[in-house]
Amino acid sequence: MKIDIKNLTLSQLVEEFGKFDLPSFRARQIFKWIWQKGIKDWELMTDISKPLRTRLAERYSIGDLKLKARVGSAKEGAVKHLFELAGGERIESVWLKDGTRRTVCVSTQVGCSLGCEFCRTAGMGFVRDLTAGEIAGQVLAISKGQTERITNVVFMGMGEPFLNYEASLNAARILNHDLGLNIGARKITLSTVGIVPQIREFAQEPEQFKLAVSLNAADQETRERIMPIAKRYPLKELIPAVVEFTEIKGKRVTFEYVMLKNINERRKDADNLIMLLAGIPCKINLIPFNPYPESKFQAPSEVDVVRFREWLMPDLPAVTLRKSLGAAILAGCGQLAASSLNEKEK
Ligand code: SF4
Repeated sequence: MKIDIKNLTLSQLVEEFGKFDLPSFRARQIFKWIWQKGIKDWELMTDISKPLRTRLAERYSIGDLKLKARVGSAKEGAVKHLFELAGGERIESVWLKDGTRRTVCVSTQVGCSLGCEFCRTAGMGFVRDLTAGEIAGQVLAISKGQTERITNVVFMGMGEPFLNYEASLNAARILNHDLGLNIGARKITLSTVGIVPQIREFAQEPEQFKLAVSLNAADQETRERIMPIAKRYPLKELIPAVVEFTEIKGKRVTFEYVMLKNINERRKDADNLIMLLAGIPCKINLIPFNPYPESKFQAPSEVDVVRFREWLMPDLPAVTLRKSLGAAILAGCGQLAASSLNEKEK
């Protein structure tokens, strides 16, 4: 079976080519053709000789994502993309516009096994992990349909990146490389619900990728109720791992907090949050829940959201309120589910 060359970081490609005595500049050339020029046909790689192109094509494939549908517009600030993978599975990615930022939110798995109660993807169950090429390929494919340069990438779409750690990290490396998509490491954020061993591993990686933790409750009982994974990795283990990350990397972490009416936005929840995060270099991102047709939770009112934010400040001054761009097209946080798009929308 051919190796899909799109799954390899540049250093892996250099190593792979080394097995066949191909010099490293060939790897750089091909990496650039694929990731900067978006070329997927060997015949179009015109600075490589025909015999070598034939040899490469015999041994390697160049994976591709098929764009099946696109909903929303740049004017609306969010565009949801439905892609089909080689095996026919479907994933979604979202392009978001916010100020000068142009962010792509990528999926890392088809479906998800973790069953967070507020998340639409959870209803799909887990199908399979994406490869590094499929993850980074979402950004490449979206960039081709946009005139504006993509400035940020967040791994917050379908799936848990830290349960598909190696592929997610390699995708981040491909996106970051200056011969790849050339997106700054500090503009690439991997978000986890709190998979403790991989938070520790991530802290040891040499790159300056950012970490976001989907916290959503500051007490163990509520967290377990809305996020079953909290039983496996309780707050008493999660928080020390996050602190360790901030110490090793010397930078702050973002805590995402999806606000659910009457569940986690009461005064006592704010007090618990202040106590839990005191002294941790962090930013808190409040995300009012985006209800979807079958959701069991309600969104907090605007008054609830503003009041909760005021309770947190000034004890936790770095509190931002994420505008839920794209909620109208079900592209908001926690709303991705491949079943929500169909080809008629193309
Ligand atoms: S919130 Fe993330 S980890 Fe939880 S079920 Fe949804 S996709 Fe999975």
